[in-house]
Amino acid sequence: MRHLYLHIPFCQRRCAYCDFNTYANMGDRIEAYVQALCTELGLLARQRAFASPLSAEAAALRPSIFFGGGTPTMLSLGQLERILAAAAALVPLAEAEITSEANPGTVLQPAYLRGLRALGFNRLSLGVQSLHDPTLRLLGRIHTAAEAHQSYVAAREAGFAHINLDFIFGLPGQDLAQWTATLATLVHWEVEHLSLYALTLEAPTPLAAQVHAGRIGVPDDDDAATLYEEAMARLADAGYVQYEISNWVRPAGREVLPGLPWQACHHNLAYWLNSDYMAAGAGAHGHRYPRRYANVLGVDAYIKAVGAGHLPTAEELPLTPFDLCAETMLMGMRLNVGVSAAHFAARCGLSLETTYGTALADLVGQGLVEWAGERVRLTPRGRMLGNRVFARFV
Ligand code: SF4
Repeated sequence: MRHLYLHIPFCQRRCAYCDFNTYANMGDRIEAYVQALCTELGLLARQRAFASPLSAEAAALRPSIFFGGGTPTMLSLGQLERILAAAAALVPLAEAEITSEANPGTVLQPAYLRGLRALGFNRLSLGVQSLHDPTLRLLGRIHTAAEAHQSYVAAREAGFAHINLDFIFGLPGQDLAQWTATLATLVHWEVEHLSLYALTLEAPTPLAAQVHAGRIGVPDDDDAATLYEEAMARLADAGYVQYEISNWVRPAGREVLPGLPWQACHHNLAYWLNSDYMAAGAGAHGHRYPRRYANVLGVDAYIKAVGAGHLPTAEELPLTPFDLCAETMLMGMRLNVGVSAAHFAARCGLSLETTYGTALADLVGQGLVEWAGERVRLTPRGRMLGNRVFARFV
């Protein structure tokens, strides 16, 4: 197996917009959780190996390990080292892209950042979200904009050459001038990778409740679309490649394939190429065609399940050949390079033309997708109306 996701479900404080499987005030469970995670990785390593169809472009990716959450940087270096040692039975560490998500409020210490590098982490993804302190407070973030910048600089000084910054647009009170200033700052910082996501208001979160009660206003869909278009224009002007709907990278020569810079996140590329991946940790979702699985959600339930000596699987869903085809399109069309007919045939065992020829001809007629050689991809208009395109593949 080439790709592994590890879920670390602890945070210092819950952010007002967050509906991820994360928990605050559970620091006393971290050590037991780390032990359980190492045990689960051992159980996964003993599972029967299986062969999954892999296209040439999926095979070109680096193997990857992604520590997500939650806040993986709440773990000590020693705990992360033990997890990596257990993960080594599944993914070849020396060749792998090893990413940790990080909250800028938890990683300011240069010694900690140097320790991450020494352990083999070679990519850091900092959740900055905004450079506007009142907005950061409203979101419940535990850092200021200045602290986020300090973390970014400290990570660079610690030797991280691959840093991603996460931002949200369409935030309360955010107007075009504020967003344009943020983008200019990011270009000035020479960040090599940016993930920019539209705010989504998930029903059970405090922020959604405040917005729905009319106490907080957010930009409407048209204004959010204007912010997205601004990001596309400003970052293109600054030399970034938008390689996926929400992801930009500064190209530096080498490419995964023509038009797809090597500096892209290889772990996420595995998702977008609809590759198989393992996942471990509470609530983690894995994909091993012809099945997808989800682990038990809660921290205590997870520790208990693993402690009983078996994989903590809560749910296992069979995937049909049709699911495989649909997901290969839904994920792959998010990429700027789109889906290659050769990749589709290698992954799905079917011809793209036979499977989706009618739908694609229709979408080309509407100006939403286009062919570039043997690849089919979204047009700029299709990128703004992605849901209309994706609906044709399910
Ligand atoms: S730091 Fe991230 S995972 Fe944790 S509560 Fe905030 S948004 Fe959620």
